[in-house]
Order: sequence, then structure tokens, then C-alpha cells
Amino acid sequence: MSDCEEEKIKYHELLERVKSLEEENDSLAERAEEILLLSMLGDTISSIDNEKQLIEELLEKISILNNISLCCCYEIIEGKYHLYSGYISDPYINEIAPEIKLGNEILEEICNAQMYCGLATEGKGLVYPTHVTDNTEILIVYFNGRQVKEGVFVFMDEKNGHTLHTKLMVVRQAIRMVVARIENLSYIAEIEELNRDLEEKVLKRTIELTKARDKAQESDRLKSAFLANMSHEIRTPMNAIVGFSELLESKSCDSTEIENYASLIYSNSLSLLNLINDLLDFSKIEANQLQLHCLSFNIHDTIKEVEMLTRSLIRQYDKPDLSVKVVNEVGSKITSLHTDELRLKQILTNLLSNAVKFSFKGIIYIKYELKGSQIWFSIKDEGIGIDDGLHEMIFSRFSRVTDDVNKTIAGNGLGLTITKNLVKLLGGRITVNSKLGYGSEFSFCVDVNHCNKV
Ligand code: ADP
Repeated sequence: MSDCEEEKIKYHELLERVKSLEEENDSLAERAEEILLLSMLGDTISSIDNEKQLIEELLEKISILNNISLCCCYEIIEGKYHLYSGYISDPYINEIAPEIKLGNEILEEICNAQMYCGLATEGKGLVYPTHVTDNTEILIVYFNGRQVKEGVFVFMDEKNGHTLHTKLMVVRQAIRMVVARIENLSYIAEIEELNRDLEEKVLKRTIELTKARDKAQESDRLKSAFLANMSHEIRTPMNAIVGFSELLESKSCDSTEIENYASLIYSNSLSLLNLINDLLDFSKIEANQLQLHCLSFNIHDTIKEVEMLTRSLIRQYDKPDLSVKVVNEVGSKITSLHTDELRLKQILTNLLSNAVKFSFKGIIYIKYELKGSQIWFSIKDEGIGIDDGLHEMIFSRFSRVTDDVNKTIAGNGLGLTITKNLVKLLGGRITVNSKLGYGSEFSFCVDVNHCNKV
């Protein structure tokens, strides 16, 4: 072989080598671009927490780094493709597809391979924006997720040397990254929401538990106070009954003494009986066991009866400056009332005996009037009155006002609790209006037809 021929062969070999190096170079450059795109995208998306912005970022990066003139994202809602976001790098294209329709062939391919890549004008049922030419290539990548919407990314470009096919890998990778980020974001949002929900529930439960604990502590305190009070309430009449019975037994009593002792035994027995009745009623109310026995009765007769009882109480308490007056505002509009008479009398008696107990002079008014389907009763006295801040407390079980005057007056703190519950059972409500030093007025209503309703 001549030198010249050898030179020629070497030259061709060199050319081949250069060509393969150039190809290698190109593919390395492409790979570098891909890595650049993915790393830029990775950096950017980690700081974005808005779905739309993430998709815009993805479209822009793919378009710029891969030199693709039109990149769009469509969401699929009820089988229709709605443009979600778009990016166009070509300044001459100023219109993007308002809507795309995909032909069956393409849809089938997307369904099988989750993507489609080919010429836009292959007549497979695509509806394009006006700038599409015979040379326009289209790449469609389907995406969906548990949290993200279902949709497609659509890329379009004029076929120029290398096709969209060659960019498929990197485009898919980029889409996967962004979709994963969106999924993560929605998981984070879901977790945050669950967290908030849980925190709210814990807070609510803590408040409930604190309230329950406070209530239990208060109840405990009241029960201890009640027991201490009760032993006094029981012992006092019991001691009187036992003491005076002993005296009665001794033969030395004259007839006046016998009369006095007997009357004291009687009154102490009564107060013991009242206490036992209160306790029984209270436990029935607490256990929701109190039953109504409704009958029709004459309301005016009932009021007369409680008026008489009040007079006898005033005598018993030996309060000559105290009197009682009935104010009938019902007139003859109504005579018969259908409710539990015994319980109504109990309410009136409780309020009236308090009026007698906590007053030393003046008039105790028993007023009753008709308002719609309700009868309102009010018991008003001119007694010691109740401090403004204690109006609610006095209706709680075992609660009593503990000032010096109140301490000298017997009671167990159950009367108003029972009264309030009885009024409620009769379908009404009770209010108090009282001023310290001036007297009190307790008003309650009873629904005329309540018994028919229960
Ligand atoms: P008790 O009378 O046995 O103490 P109540 O539950 O009937 O229990 O009443 C609770 C407290 O309310 C009484 O201890 C008293 O301090 C106050 N109270 C009730 N009625 C009156 C009233 N008419 N005037 C002044 N204070 C009253």
C-alpha cells in the first residue's frame, strides 16, 4: 500500500472517530441539559406550594430548556379537556388551544401507554389551535394521582432535526417530579388539616374535662357541706323530739307543759318530715324518676289553700309583722287547670315558706295571671333580699347564702333546686328578681296544656 493510500485510510478513520465523538458529545450535551432541567426544576419546586404555580413552572422550564414552542396542561373533567395552564415560547404564536379534542386512536394510545407522540396532522381527531402546520409534532403525556386531578400535558413544536420523541424521557421525568410534589403538598395539607382537627378536638375535650372536673370538685365540696349541714338539720329536730318525749314521760309535767312539749314534738317532726321529703324528691329528680300525675282542678281553690298554709307558717314562725295577700289577675277567665296539682302546690309552698323564712315584716304577695297559654305565678316578699351576684347560685343543689342573717335561718339548700326542676317538669321556667335589703320576687309559669303534651 502506498503512503498516499495509507494516509487516506487514516484520514477516514479520523473522520469516523470525530463523527462518533461528536455524536457522543451531542448525547452528553443532551443528557447534561436533561440533568440541568431536572435539577433546576427540583430546586424551584421545593419552594413552591401552589399547584397552579408548580405546573406553570414545569411548562416554562420544559419549554425553555428543550426549545419546545408550546406547552400546555389540560385537566380532564367528565371526559372533557379544559385548559389549566399554558406556556408559549414562540413570540409569533399568540393563540393557544382553547380546547382540544382527542380522537379515539389517540385516546386509546394514551390509555395503553399513558402518552402519545406523533405528527399533529395525522388526522387522528385532534382539534388544534390555528398555528398548527403539516410539520407540527405533538407529544401528549397523561397524568393522574390520588390527590391531583386527572389530565394531560400537551407539547407542540415544528419538527426540526430532532423530534419530541427524544425529549420524552426527560419530559416524563419532570412531569413525575411535579405531580409527586403536588401529591405531597396535598398530603401535607391533609395532614395539617387532620392535625388542626385533632388539636381542636383535644382542646374541646380538655375544656370539657376541665369543666367536668370543676363540676365534680364543686359537687364534692357541696356534698361535704351538705352532709355537715344535714347532720345538723337532722340532729336538731331529732334531739328536740327525743328530749321533749323524755320530758313528757316524766310524771312531773303539768298540763300546760305537756301541751307545749307535744306541740314542739309535732313541729320538729314536721320539719324532719319536710327534710326527708325534700331528700326523696331531690334523689328522684337526680335519677329522672319523678313522674307527673295530671288532673283537672280549680286553681283558685289551690291558691286559697296555699294562702292558708302561709298564714299558718307565719304563726308557726311567730312573725306578727308579716301578712299574706293574694292578687288574682286571672279573674274568672280560667278556673280549671290541668296539671300536677300536688307538684304545683309543692312549688308554691317552697317559695312561700322561703318568703316567710327570709322576711320579718311586710306583705307576702301571691299573684297569678294568665299570659297566652301560660299561667304566671309570683311570690313577692319584703324580706332580706338576695345579693345580685347570687341569683343563679341559689338554684344549685345544696347552695345557701352564707351571710350572718342567713346562717341563723334553718334550711338545707335543696328547696329551690327542687322547685326549679318541678317548674321545668310542668313545662315552665322560673326567674328571680331580688335586691339585698328590699325583698325578693320569684316568678314562674306553668303551661296550661303541658300535661296534655307529655
Ligand atoms: P333553703 O331555704 O333550705 O336554704 P333553698 O334552696 O330554698 O334552700 O334556698 C336557697 C337559698 O336562697 C336560701 O338559703 C336563701 O339564702 C336564698 N333565698 C331563697 N328564697 C329567698 C327569699 N325569699 N329571700 C331571701 N333569700 C332567699
